[in-house]
Amino acid sequence: MSSIFWNKQISSAKPYIPGEQPRDKQYIKLNTNELPYPPAPAVQAALNNFDGSALRLYPDPTQIKLRTALAANFQLDPSEVFVGNGSDEILAFCFQAFFEANDEGKTAPVLSTALGYSFYPVYADFFKVALNLLPLNADLTVNPEAFQRPARAVLLANPNAPTGLFLDNQAIRSLLNQDLERLVIVDEAYVDFAPESSAALVKEFDNLLVVQTFSKSRALAGLRLGFALGKSPLIRGLEIVRDNINSYTVDRLSESLGVAALSDTPYFEECCARVVRTRERVSAFLKKFGAELTDSQANFLWVRHPRLNGAEVYQKLKQQGILVRHFSDQRISARVRVSIGTDAEMDQFLEAFINL
Ligand SMILES: *Cc1c(COP(=O)(O)O)cnc(C)c1O
Repeated sequence: MSSIFWNKQISSAKPYIPGEQPRDKQYIKLNTNELPYPPAPAVQAALNNFDGSALRLYPDPTQIKLRTALAANFQLDPSEVFVGNGSDEILAFCFQAFFEANDEGKTAPVLSTALGYSFYPVYADFFKVALNLLPLNADLTVNPEAFQRPARAVLLANPNAPTGLFLDNQAIRSLLNQDLERLVIVDEAYVDFAPESSAALVKEFDNLLVVQTFSKSRALAGLRLGFALGKSPLIRGLEIVRDNINSYTVDRLSESLGVAALSDTPYFEECCARVVRTRERVSAFLKKFGAELTDSQANFLWVRHPRLNGAEVYQKLKQQGILVRHFSDQRISARVRVSIGTDAEMDQFLEAFINL
C-alpha cells in the first residue's frame, strides 16, 4: 500500500518487523525474549493502589522519581539518567542526537557489527545516517581491534543479539580508549543475564552511553520503559531530542510502576538467576543432542538443529504450539532464536525439538 499523501521518507522506508504476538491460540511463547515470570509483586501492588484520578494531570516531564530510583540503583546522579518509552525509542533518539544525517560521507560513519540488533540498520536508513557493519570473528565474537578506525560512534548490543555473545568490561574499556572523542553506545537489553554491566564505567568515561530496558529482565515489556546512563551532557542531548518531539514520553502509570519494579532487588535477582540456570541446563542438553549453539549470556539461545534448517524448525514447532523466532536473512537462516521460558516450558520445547 502507498499513498500520494506520503512523503519520500515514508514511501521508501523499510520498517523493523517485531516478533509475532499471536492471538489465534495459546502458544508456548519463546519468540520475543520476554521474561516468563511476572513483574515484581510490588508492581501489582502499585497498580492496585494507583489513583486513577491522577491521570487527569500530565506526568512529571522530568520523571524525577524514576530517575532518582535508577540513579540510586547504579550509584549515579539523576542528571546521568534518561528514561524513555522503551529503549528502542532511546536508541532512535541517539541517532537524532549524536549521529550526523544526510552528510554524504563528510563525517566518519557509525560502526556496529554485521550480526547485531536488526533495528540499527532500520534507524540508520530512516535517519539517513551512514552505518558501517563490521564483520565478526569466525566464531561470531566481536573483535574490538576491528573498531580501531575513524568513526563518529560505535553502537553495540551487549550481549549481542541474536548471538547472545558477551564482551566484558575490559573489552568495552579498550573500545572506549581507542578514541575518547568517539561515542560508544552499549545497548544492554540483556545484560542482567550476563556477568557485568558497563554502567560501572559511566563515571569514568565521557564517551560512554549505556542503554537498558525494563522489558526483559524486569518483566515489563508491556509497559514500555527504557533508560540510558551517561555523563549529563549526553543525557541533555537526549532530552533536547525528546523535547522537540514529545515532552511526555513516560506516563504517570509507567513512572510509578517503574519505581515499584526497582524496589524489589531480591525478586529481580532471583528471576535473572532462574533464567540463567534454565539457560545453562537447556544449553547443555541441546549440545548433547548435537545442536550447534553459541555461548549465550542472554535470556535466549541461538540454535541450529543437526538436520533441519531454521525455517523448518520454526514451522514444525509452531504447528505444535511452540513459537520461536526465525530470521529469514540468508546468513542466519540456519538457526532459530529461542527465548528462555520456565523450566516446564523448556522441557516441552526440548521434547518437541529432539523429535522434529
Ligand atoms: C528487546 C531489545 C531492545 C528493545 O527493548 P524495549 O525497551 O522493549 O524497546 C533493545 N535492544 C535490543 C538488543 C533488544 O533485544
